[in-house]
Amino acid sequence: MLRHSVLCHHCRNKIYFATEARRRSELPVNFSLKCYSCSQILNYYNNQVLAETGELNRTGGAVLGGLLGLAASGGTAAILGAILGGLIGESYERTDRQAVEEFNNSV
Ligand SMILES: [Zn+2]
Repeated sequence: MLRHSVLCHHCRNKIYFATEARRRSELPVNFSLKCYSCSQILNYYNNQVLAETGELNRTGGAVLGGLLGLAASGGTAAILGAILGGLIGESYERTDRQAVEEFNNSV
């Protein structure tokens, strides 16, 4: 999961906003956002947007592992589920990091 943000021109706080954009060209060149902390509505350019990975990734992987472990019965299966879940979580994270790099290197 990608998280997109700009730095507030007024208070330098990070403003996160929801978008599915994988590169900057998928965002409007110019758009206004309201800052959560200082409430200023200001104009931003898509080249000021930075992507980062969502912090929930690892937890997501762990939860998924837990679920897989639960689905299969027995102690060994639970351990296998946890390992598998860990692997899935990590590959998600790698994909995310690539997506972040792609976005941040995009024009
Ligand atoms: Zn602000």
